Amino acid sequence: MDFQEAIIDFLGIQDVEIEAINFHKKGRKVRVIARQKRSECFCTRCGLQFDSIKEWQKKEIKAPPMGVYTDVKILFYQMRGNCDTCNRSGVAGACWIHPEFKSMTCGFTEVAGRLMEEITCEAVSRILVTDSMTMWRVDQWRMELMAKRLVLPANMDVSFLAADEVHFRTIENKNRKGPLRSDMCLSS
Ligand SMILES: [Zn+2]
Repeated sequence: MDFQEAIIDFLGIQDVEIEAINFHKKGRKVRVIARQKRSECFCTRCGLQFDSIKEWQKKEIKAPPMGVYTDVKILFYQMRGNCDTCNRSGVAGACWIHPEFKSMTCGFTEVAGRLMEEITCEAVSRILVTDSMTMWRVDQWRMELMAKRLVLPANMDVSFLAADEVHFRTIENKNRKGPLRSDMCLSS
């Protein structure tokens, strides 16, 4: 694996060529200039490769921190191509851009989301150099997704559910012997 491939892997992106990387040591900023690989650009309607390039759309996409650099952005050139089969132009898909938060990579929202399971949205926004309201929206989006997959045990009488962590409040176990330990608080 060469250095370019390693950086692409660190960033959690795919099918791009890195053209330049600009480091701003003072602000701990990195700007990665990346262009979509021509061979990986497909018409979203017929699935065939585009016949020609119409234009390159420049986008700024927030990426997860890399080492000591906390403020990482990809300046991404995304291809709008012409499809002769469909007789139309279209933008090639990039699966690593988040489907809802299009100015972020999926990797970034996952890093931020995982942090928000442990600490506040405000704290995460300071660590990841972004705004807390956006972080709150990312957290809510992620929680909604996770709630759909959450299957509660059938015999569990849930009276309380908190979003910051999976926390159930159940009926007290009357058969339990000995004092209540702090690690039993899950079901207290
Ligand atoms: Zn097509």
